[in-house]
Amino acid sequence: MSPSILTICYLIASITFIIGLKMLSRPQSARKGNLIAAGGMIIAIFATIFLYQDEELSYLRNKILIFSALAIGTFAGMLSAKKVKMTSMPEMVSLFNGMGGACAMLISIIEFNYQRSVTTAHNSPATFLIIVLGVIIGSVSFAGSIVAWGKLNGRFKDKIFPGQRLINFGMLFLLIAAATLFVYLVPGSSNGLSVQLHTYLFYSILILSLLYGVFFVLPIGGADMPVVISLLNSFTGIAAACGGFMYNNQAMLTGGILVGAAGTLLTILMCKAMNRSLLNVIVGSFGGGAAVSNANKDQGAYKEITLNDAAMIMSYANKVMIVPGYGLAVAQAQHTCHELEKILTEKGVEIKYAIHPVAGRMPGHMNVLLAEADVSYEKLLEMENANDEFKTSDVVLILGANDVVNPAAKNDPASPIYGMPILEVEQAKNVIVNKRSMKPGYAGIENDLFFQPKTSMLFGDAKNVLQSLCAAIKEV
Ligand code: NDP
Repeated sequence: MSPSILTICYLIASITFIIGLKMLSRPQSARKGNLIAAGGMIIAIFATIFLYQDEELSYLRNKILIFSALAIGTFAGMLSAKKVKMTSMPEMVSLFNGMGGACAMLISIIEFNYQRSVTTAHNSPATFLIIVLGVIIGSVSFAGSIVAWGKLNGRFKDKIFPGQRLINFGMLFLLIAAATLFVYLVPGSSNGLSVQLHTYLFYSILILSLLYGVFFVLPIGGADMPVVISLLNSFTGIAAACGGFMYNNQAMLTGGILVGAAGTLLTILMCKAMNRSLLNVIVGSFGGGAAVSNANKDQGAYKEITLNDAAMIMSYANKVMIVPGYGLAVAQAQHTCHELEKILTEKGVEIKYAIHPVAGRMPGHMNVLLAEADVSYEKLLEMENANDEFKTSDVVLILGANDVVNPAAKNDPASPIYGMPILEVEQAKNVIVNKRSMKPGYAGIENDLFFQPKTSMLFGDAKNVLQSLCAAIKEV
């Protein structure tokens, strides 16, 4: 009876994953969607622990070990998710993704040793194909994610050795060749390898995959890390789906396919948002400081504006567009920003927010941040719509954004961000930029916008400046 109940549990889990993923596509329902999918995952885990019946798999009977691991994992996951700052979220996603890759890798190692111990004749190449795919994709994802995590928190720097790309292609070619041999020369088949040689081949593939993961991510530019993390995330999904095939586990299969497909789509969307191909992301080294651009040219003088003058211009404007960026997130100024919006709206000023798809440090960062402060979704304009509305805006207030408003993306072919669609703020009548200094943003390049005649700099921490602005506008 248990197997059919188990299948029903897996089916329920699969359905919750699909519903959960669908609900994640809208900020209003995302939290609930996450909980529903997590509920499905709990059902799948407990059903496997208590209902999976296979006499040979004695490790499933070791409940103390299983529950100890579950308790440690749950505690560590909850603690880090509670403690993580919004701006460090990509790092955490990368680390968790690495753990998923490591799981897929370990499953393949265990399954390989199990297959090796139970059979020497009539071995199925299909089983070994799934095993080798799981170990390659899982290991690349694990090693790559750890490097991505290190790069995002500054522990590792972008590194390109002479001939690195050639070495990478060579390693990839070697991996594919070794994997083909591994599947084709299964022990027990007519031209099969000895069990020992086959085992050596397996562990060589494992080591090569781990090395490839490191070498694949190391040269990729820092600012491209979110795209890479999303790509590695889709790899982990595929590796998990391989595990689902191996154990005939429908929940694992559905979950893996969903993660794989969602990761792939997100990767494509992010590349589109930056107007770059995936190949260019992988070999382009954006944010790695490779390109020569206007970065160090003499830009002339910039203009500053006082708080009172900024308050005055905004109070008498018909329409103000707010451009939030990474600095707003660092300053945790989203609530004060909403406060400013309410004060100006009371004065009859129309307020809208212009959201760039890669503003901040993760996809959807600004949407999540502003949703947290109860900013109405109707006020958030996506890039294309925002660019249509700048020309009818009296003031654009840029809060801790830099690269996403940098005109070099349009005018400077040598700039590393050339070709990335940007918010064309200079079309508005006045541009006020709030940041703490003239330092560059994530891509490490100078911004011409700050030196244009329409632009005025309002220096200071975003939260402090917004608090003072709110007070000053109330006085107008
Ligand atoms: P940027 O990193 O280009 O600029 C942020 C600016 O905020 C800095 O110039 C900094 O200037 C200012 N700042 C920092 N702290 C504060 C503060 N407390 N108060 C006020 N200002 C502050 O951010 P953008 O959002 O414009 O662009 C995002 C960049 O990050 C892009 O290059 C994007 O590709 C990259 N990226 C995006 C990811 C995503 O998925 N969204 C993920 C990873 C990277 P100063 O020090 O002078 O204050």
